[in-house]
Amino acid sequence: MKLKLPEHLAPADATAMKAVKPVICYPVDGLQAPDLVAYRAAREAWRKTHEVLVPPREARCFDVPAGHFFRIVSVEGPQVGDLNLWHATNHAERFFSGKTRALHGTHVSTGDRLWSNLPYLRPMATITEDTLDWYGFDEFGGSVHDVIGTRCDPYTHRLLSGGDYHHCCHSNLTRAFAAQTGRSQGEAEPFIHDVLNVFMCTGFTRDTGQYFMKATPVRPGDFIEFFAEIDLLGALSACPGGDCGVEHSSDTAKCSPLLVEIYVPSSPPKGWVSPAVNGFASLNDSKAKNVA
Ligand SMILES: [Zn+2]
Repeated sequence: MKLKLPEHLAPADATAMKAVKPVICYPVDGLQAPDLVAYRAAREAWRKTHEVLVPPREARCFDVPAGHFFRIVSVEGPQVGDLNLWHATNHAERFFSGKTRALHGTHVSTGDRLWSNLPYLRPMATITEDTLDWYGFDEFGGSVHDVIGTRCDPYTHRLLSGGDYHHCCHSNLTRAFAAQTGRSQGEAEPFIHDVLNVFMCTGFTRDTGQYFMKATPVRPGDFIEFFAEIDLLGALSACPGGDCGVEHSSDTAKCSPLLVEIYVPSSPPKGWVSPAVNGFASLNDSKAKNVA
């Protein structure tokens, strides 16, 4: 929060300081770009292996082996989804929305990658198609599929409203992950992490920099498609906010299911190799030495 009237006088060179042009923190020119032509060619003879319907105000888990694709599809009405990803067998490796944001910006679309946390920091999935890519940025600075929100959760809801609500995305993801992995809900909760807000339309207000949402433009038939770079366990919550045009963390909004489809190509994309964990190893080494 910034005071409407600052308490401190600006220095004499304030105008010059504010006029300095920004530089991109993390230029991604050095990253190897995904070969979208090869990825898409691999879809030509693909086969759907299974699908998972995520009921409204609930979450479900799904497995996607490395080299397979998955789609999140709008099937009945405008609906936002909160996505978590883990390495299929090492759940300590999980989606890192903060670094994904630092690398690709506030909202992701075709060609962007979902990165894993430190010390792994490798692409977990690559976005290979997004039917909402036409939206771009609107006049409010809003766009679709953000990595700036966290996930609706009952703790923040209690702070702000004083009430308890048990079908926030955090709660739904916790229950789904617990059921999938055989952990208790208490054991499962620390594995739940900041999400990719699938189909959600969000931004920051220009005057106060506050996180805002508006009704998603997604319609039945729209989808976002990912290629699994490593073996993945996913969890998707159909947010209780529905289209997130009014509010979330309540039973007020109209909610719809979301469909997850998993596809196996007849052969992997030409030239594709599943990425190894990040090559920086000195901290890992010292940690290993400490353990020894
Ligand atoms: Zn939510």
